[in-house]
Amino acid sequence: MNAEEAIDRAYERLGERIHEKFRRKDIARDIVTLAGMAEIYCADHHDDAQRVPFRSEATEAGAYPARKIPRLCPDCARHVRYGEVRRALCTRDPRPSCKTCSNHCYAPDEAAWQRTCMAYAGPRAMFRGHAIDAIRHLIQTRRS
Ligand SMILES: [Zn+2]
Repeated sequence: MNAEEAIDRAYERLGERIHEKFRRKDIARDIVTLAGMAEIYCADHHDDAQRVPFRSEATEAGAYPARKIPRLCPDCARHVRYGEVRRALCTRDPRPSCKTCSNHCYAPDEAAWQRTCMAYAGPRAMFRGHAIDAIRHLIQTRRS
């Protein structure tokens, strides 16, 4: 099962619960931050002609303020959609730093993409006023 199938499966089984989570402010904030980082990475690495305003279950659910809808290529959009679901289904509440969490819920490929994205976007996001601390806790990339 690839990541996209895993997401579709999650929405089939847990769609109601996921949508409920999208309405929570702390979860929405994490998701918007994640997408903002992906946008920084995507803008500098991928074909601009491929980048369109992001749409997902979370954008439809209103988790994003209108001005924070990122422009993403299809590939980055898939990764962000995966991250949205993982964040919504995190069972720890409040969410701990992902690095110290015993439940590494990202598939290896997705975790690898997140690390690459973060390594690039992290230092640049600080200049753009993104909530860098929020994202650092979201995924398993914090350097110790
Ligand atoms: Zn991209």
